[in-house]
Amino acid sequence: MAHRVTLIPGDGIGPEVATAARLVLDAADVGIEWVERPAGTAALEDYGELMPEQTLDAIRSCRVALKGPITTPVGTGFRSVNVALRQDLDLFSAVRPARALPGVPIRHASVDLVVVRENTEDLYAGIEFERGSPEADALREELRALGGYEVRDDAGITVKPISVSGTRRIVRFAFEYARLNGRTKVTVGHKANVMRYSDGLFLQTAEQESRDFPDVDWQEIQIDHLTSRLAREPADFDVLLLPNLYGDIISDLCAGLVGGLGLIPGANIGWEYAVFEPVHGSAPDIAGQGTANPIAIILSGAMLLRHVGEHTAAENVEWAVDEVLARGEVRTPDLGGPSTTMQVAEEVATQVTAWEHGPS
Ligand code: NAD
Repeated sequence: MAHRVTLIPGDGIGPEVATAARLVLDAADVGIEWVERPAGTAALEDYGELMPEQTLDAIRSCRVALKGPITTPVGTGFRSVNVALRQDLDLFSAVRPARALPGVPIRHASVDLVVVRENTEDLYAGIEFERGSPEADALREELRALGGYEVRDDAGITVKPISVSGTRRIVRFAFEYARLNGRTKVTVGHKANVMRYSDGLFLQTAEQESRDFPDVDWQEIQIDHLTSRLAREPADFDVLLLPNLYGDIISDLCAGLVGGLGLIPGANIGWEYAVFEPVHGSAPDIAGQGTANPIAIILSGAMLLRHVGEHTAAENVEWAVDEVLARGEVRTPDLGGPSTTMQVAEEVATQVTAWEHGPS
């Protein structure tokens, strides 16, 4: 086998869409050996933890993974598995392309955006203090002593670290990505006027690093203004470079612009490892029905193929998805169709196998 890939089916609709993606990637016939490992609630039952060490070891050994969504139990004290995975493997960049797909009606004439999100810092760094805990009380006292800051004694606290080194690498990643993918502009979203020492530093570092990329335009915009501009004129933007929290929110907005969460792929990339996953979550409301849209994870699989150097196969899979969507006969309910997850996957796999189009 040419490529070893860890497959993590995940929770909710995860196993359904992961099986669908596997079918399509196998049809691309590039010799993938799948190393399937659990994470999420299934792993919790068997291993007592949401992300077992053996699953992390499998990713370290394969270096690439395709992952379904994982449910984060709310308010139970569990750290988000997704956040932990990105930090433990130092997957510092998230790439989430949102392009208008054939046959999927959208409100705008065209949308072709890529969100590049910093993946390890910011309010998602996981530095949190529970309301009423001795640690939160100690922190409140320290803040009072350091700067006279008064934090209410019934407050929970989440810390927002943004570093020069953490920002520099994501800025360079975004500009390199733009260069390599024929994109011409990087827009940095921030709220530097309010958060001067975190967002301000992100903006300042982006400005400095951008000087090494004179061939790529860059602009900065406040994050609230960006949301309204995106809703009205998405064609004005190309690559969006964002700190962690804003990147999470804006990628869902971009998903909405092109027809929904079932369509948007994603990659989490670090120096050593890369984990590919759809932007959507485990969708408990439709789990087990066999109707989840598998396109997002199939397109995540295409990103994986490109990452491991299988450019022609990646193009083949993307073309097959476009072909199936353009014909409009086989679609899941989120796109207004009656088809099941596996019917869509089988149709895409058939197109992959029938590919005569060749690399463009
Ligand atoms: P969600 O993305 O799971 O669902 C939002 C809505 O979109 C739902 O109505 C759902 O039915 C629909 N949807 C999502 N994916 C779809 C698909 N492929 N086909 C058709 N419809 C689809 O978001 P949520 O409900 O906020 O989160 C549910 C759980 O997923 C939470 O526990 C959350 O923490 C987790 N989550 C995990 C990841 C990840 O693993 N990367 C990402 C986001 C959310």
